[in-house]
Amino acid sequence: MLKGKTAIVTGSTSGIGLGLAKALAAQGANIVMNGFGDIEGPKAEIAAFGVKVSYHGADMSHPNEIEAMVRHCETTFGAVDILVNNAGIQHVARVENFPPERWNAVIAINLSSAFHASRFALPGMLARNWGRIINVASVHGLVASAEKSAYVAAKHGLVGLTKVTALENATTGITCNAICPGWVLTPLVQKQVDAKAAALGISNAEATKLLLGEKEPSMQFTTPEELGALAVFLCSSAANNVRGVAWNMDGGWAAQ
Ligand code: NAD
Repeated sequence: MLKGKTAIVTGSTSGIGLGLAKALAAQGANIVMNGFGDIEGPKAEIAAFGVKVSYHGADMSHPNEIEAMVRHCETTFGAVDILVNNAGIQHVARVENFPPERWNAVIAINLSSAFHASRFALPGMLARNWGRIINVASVHGLVASAEKSAYVAAKHGLVGLTKVTALENATTGITCNAICPGWVLTPLVQKQVDAKAAALGISNAEATKLLLGEKEPSMQFTTPEELGALAVFLCSSAANNVRGVAWNMDGGWAAQ
């Protein structure tokens, strides 16, 4: 379905980003990977779908590196057809204890990076009159939790950016939508499970049950594969008129 298209997926060395990159690759899209940590393992997992994969190590907190990543994609594959703004970090603390440098980092990586990547990719999409921008927000783009001020502010902001980008391009072949997962068991969430287990002196399994029980009525994690299927739908022609939605896949979290 996406043969001949190219997708940038930020933060695709791990977790949800890797799942989304694999789902798009399974539909034939070439992928520009991005993110830190092990690169060769994830790269091989994506390449196994028979597509071309290139890596760019842009730090999403630096606009000039984001521009270099977009230009790298255009030079290597001719276009950025699909932009998945996925890279993200978390920091947990009450507002009065929240370190300002962590606030700045969360806003830069979880929100401003999507603005910068979009502004660099949009001119090419407009010239071709086709594009898909998928912003990986969160259920925290729709509702809040205590001790996540920067994350909740960034994700609510990302949902707002999604709507504006969708509106500005509403008469074109470019759509912009947000995906809002509940808990997904990735390294980002594993750290929160570990912190809960340590703080309460309980096992990992008990901490996982508590974490899900607090927020997610289904008592199940959403998987990167499920999110990948949603991203593929948003890239399909069936989603030509899906514009500016914030689609939660959260086991009922936001329905409460
Ligand atoms: P993860 O920690 O597994 O992956 C994060 C990815 O972002 C990694 O590839 C990492 O290298 C990359 N990254 C971090 N800082 C970066 C930077 N400065 N520049 C470039 N890349 C950077 O986390 P995840 O759970 O897969 O999260 C992915 C996205 O999904 C995030 O935006 C997160 O907020 C969102 N999300 C996650 C959950 C969840 O439960 N895991 C729920 C809702 C939303």
